[in-house]
Amino acid sequence: MTFPPRVKRFSRPNVFEIDLGAVARCVRQIRHCIGPAIHFFATLKSNAYGYGLIPAAKAVLASGADALSLVDLEDAIALRRARIEAPILVYAGSVPGKDIVRAVEKYDLIPTLHSEESLAAFARYATRETGVAVKVDIGPERIGVPVEQAVAFVKSIAQHPKLRMHVINAHPSVPGKGSIGDCLDWQYRRFVGICDELEHAGIHVPFRVIASSRILRMTGASMVLNAVDPGAALFSPLAADQPQDRYQPFRSLKSRLIQVKNVSRTEFLDEAPFRIIPNMRIGVIPIGYSDGMNKLHCGEVLVRGERVAILGSPALEYTRVDLTRVPSAAVGDEVVIIGQQNASRIDPEEVMAKQSAARVADLALEVRATIARVYVETSGEPTIAVPYGQKNTNRLKSTSFKA
Ligand SMILES: *Cc1c(COP(=O)(O)O)cnc(C)c1O
Repeated sequence: MTFPPRVKRFSRPNVFEIDLGAVARCVRQIRHCIGPAIHFFATLKSNAYGYGLIPAAKAVLASGADALSLVDLEDAIALRRARIEAPILVYAGSVPGKDIVRAVEKYDLIPTLHSEESLAAFARYATRETGVAVKVDIGPERIGVPVEQAVAFVKSIAQHPKLRMHVINAHPSVPGKGSIGDCLDWQYRRFVGICDELEHAGIHVPFRVIASSRILRMTGASMVLNAVDPGAALFSPLAADQPQDRYQPFRSLKSRLIQVKNVSRTEFLDEAPFRIIPNMRIGVIPIGYSDGMNKLHCGEVLVRGERVAILGSPALEYTRVDLTRVPSAAVGDEVVIIGQQNASRIDPEEVMAKQSAARVADLALEVRATIARVYVETSGEPTIAVPYGQKNTNRLKSTSFKA
């Protein structure tokens, strides 16, 4: 698991600004869609889809989620260490064993049993009553108990003196084309079939979860049972028909010019890394493909409010830009890779289109842990710059990148 670094004073001047206000609005939109009675697990896998685990967790809990869910057990422990007391469902992500059972008990987590081995480990090592989740594979052919075995699997948990069924969940998956609706219906019916069979067998499972982002987007609340576990939809709105509903937590990705110079090469022009033109002026920003830059740009960046081209391909830690049209550009100038500068802007959607990325949520995943996450209010003023799991005690330092 990689964590974003502290916002250090002498790090390269690269920041990923995140608008937690937009996350809160996405959460409220989901709550509005499902209604007040449905149990809402907010899924924060993969460092909260790249947006930063602890700040995202606080934002979603403050705006209407009831519980959290994720895969990495260390992330669950980090949430507890950050004094987050909400229920935490840990999806399957570990090789089952005694140490996992101990950690689940110590940090009061809801473990997922997804296989005979995971059931055997909890059956053998549980020292106190533990509410568990069972993940059923209803059709994605991914992790989980096969549909045909699910009822027997849950029955054996119900018979165990220390294990108590708390959640049954499934994460449907449908392709981008083909019989999408029918395929989703099929998976939904299989899941409901299992839930019904358990109910008839007298086994009550408090939470039945099948609705993640795709289901909520495709069918609203119509396939919601009594709980949901969306992830991507926490960071990109469910319904974005109206411009005011297009909440965008990916606020900006910025760097600064660290060199500006003229290029006056006359030899080996065919071998040059980019096309050299007369009176060319270039700038260098200290962000490169090791920071994820290859997948984070639209081919242009903003300097002094002007759109300028990226030259050649990003190198490991550097990217070159064409400043010929912006002769006043100077070392220290802000360079916006994604976001607003003066009257110009590069939207995440433009980068996604250029990069053929399907989901906004996936764009933040491309911002490597080498780039500090900085949290801003919707108003635009950077207020907190809380590094992953750190207290905001270094306010001065963390706002030192402000223009
Ligand atoms: C990732 C995951 C989710 C959330 O999925 P989204 O498609 O991002 O909403 C829900 N449930 C399970 C079991 C998951 O693994």
